[in-house]
Amino acid sequence: MRSLSIFGATGSIGESTFDLIQRQGGRASYRIVALTAGGNVRRLAEQARSLRPEIAVIADAAKLPALREALAGSGIETAGGAGAVAEAALRPADWVMSAIVGAAGLVPGFRALSHGTTLALANKESLVTAGPLLMAEARRRGATILPVDSEHSAAFQALGGEDMAAVETVTLTASGGAFRDWPLDRLAQATVAEASTHPNWAMGQRITIDSASMFNKALEVIEAHEYFGIAPERIEVLVHPESLVHAIVGFRDGGMIGHLGAPDMRHAIGYALNWPERAALPVARLKLAEVGRLTFAAPDPARYPALGLARAVMATGGLAGAAFNAAKESALDAFIAGRIRFTDMAGVVERVLDRLTGQGGLEKRPASLDMVLDMDRSARRLAAEAMGVPADAERI
Ligand code: NAD
Ligand code: MG
Repeated sequence: MRSLSIFGATGSIGESTFDLIQRQGGRASYRIVALTAGGNVRRLAEQARSLRPEIAVIADAAKLPALREALAGSGIETAGGAGAVAEAALRPADWVMSAIVGAAGLVPGFRALSHGTTLALANKESLVTAGPLLMAEARRRGATILPVDSEHSAAFQALGGEDMAAVETVTLTASGGAFRDWPLDRLAQATVAEASTHPNWAMGQRITIDSASMFNKALEVIEAHEYFGIAPERIEVLVHPESLVHAIVGFRDGGMIGHLGAPDMRHAIGYALNWPERAALPVARLKLAEVGRLTFAAPDPARYPALGLARAVMATGGLAGAAFNAAKESALDAFIAGRIRFTDMAGVVERVLDRLTGQGGLEKRPASLDMVLDMDRSARRLAAEAMGVPADAERI
C-alpha cells in the first residue's frame, strides 16, 4: 500500500488532493502518514477522522489544544508549530504533496526529500527561493520532484521525457488575471475583493491576487527555469484568456507540443498522484468545437511589471529569488491589509531588490537553507521599511 502525506491539506490544492484521494479509495487504498494545516483546526480534524493519518499537525501552535480536543479518542497523534510541520515531513512517505502557500512551504518540502520521496510540488515558492538547493537535494537523495503547477505539469507532460537539449522554448500561458481588460489608469484603484476573483481558475486568495498582478507568472517563469534547467531567454509567456492551453514546448526541429485541458487543478494533482500511470480523473473534457477559438497575445509590460522583475531576478541568480519572493509576499500582505495600492506592489519589490543589490549579497549562491531563510527575513524587513509598515518577519 502506498503511503502519503499532505502539507497544506486544508487549502485549495490540499482540498483537491484530499478529494482525489477519497475518490481513489481513501484510507482503503493509501496509508496516510501526515496531514498538516496552517490554522483551520475544524477542517484538519475532519480530514484526519476520514483519512486516519499517523499524525495531524497545525502550524499555529496556539491551536494545538483545540486540535487535540477535536481528535480526542481517535488514536491520531497531534502536534503544533512550524517545527512540528517540518518534523512531520521527516516521516517517510512514498508520495508527499507540498501545498503550503508561500515560503513557509520550503522547509517541509525540502525535509520530505530526505527520505527519497516523490514530492508533488505545488509550492512554487520552494523552487523560486531555493531551486538549486532543492533540485540538488532531490538528486542526492534519489527523490523525484513532480511539478503540480498546471503550466509546469503541462510542460512536463508535453516533454514526455525527451532530452532538454532538444528543447528550444517553453511557453507558459497566463489568463491575464482579473484586470486583463481594465484601463491601465484604473488599476491603482483596484480593491482586494476585485483582485481576488479569477476569470477561469478557483484558487487560494493569494495566488489569485498574484494572477491579477502576474506576480504568479513571474514566480512561474523562475520555477520553470529552476525545474527544467532551461535558460531564461528560452522561457516565454503568452496571455491566453481561455486558459485551455497550459504550456507549449518548442523543439529544435520546429515542432511544438502543447498541453490542453479544462482549467481544473485536479488534472495536474491527479497526474502527479498517479504518475507514471494515468488514472481516470473527474475533470471536464474539452469540447473544442464548442470552444471555437483560442486566442493568444504578448503580455503588456506596463500592465504586468512583475514579469520584467522576474527576468532581472534570473539574471542575478543566487539569492535573488528568495529576496524577490519574500518582498512580494510582504507587498501582498500589505495590499490585502489595505496599506498599499495594487499598483504599488511591483515598486516595493523593485526597491527591495535595488537595496539588496547595493549590498552585494544577492548574487551569492545559497549553500544552505539557512542562507535562503536569512535572505527571506532581510527582504521582508526591507519591504516593511519601504512601505512604512511594521515588520512581519515571522511568516516562515
Ligand atoms: P491556500 O491558501 O488555499 O492553502 C494553503 C495551505 O497552507 C492551507 O492548508 C493553509 O492552512 C496552509 N498554510 C498557510 N500558511 C501556512 C504556514 N505559515 N505554515 C503552514 N501551513 C500554512 O493556497 P493554495 O491556493 O492551495 O496554494 C498552495 C500552493 O500551491 C501555493 O504555493 C500556490 O502558489 C500553489 N499553487 C496553487 C494553485 C491553485 O490552484 N490553488 C495552482 C498552482 C499552484
Ligand atoms: Mg500556475
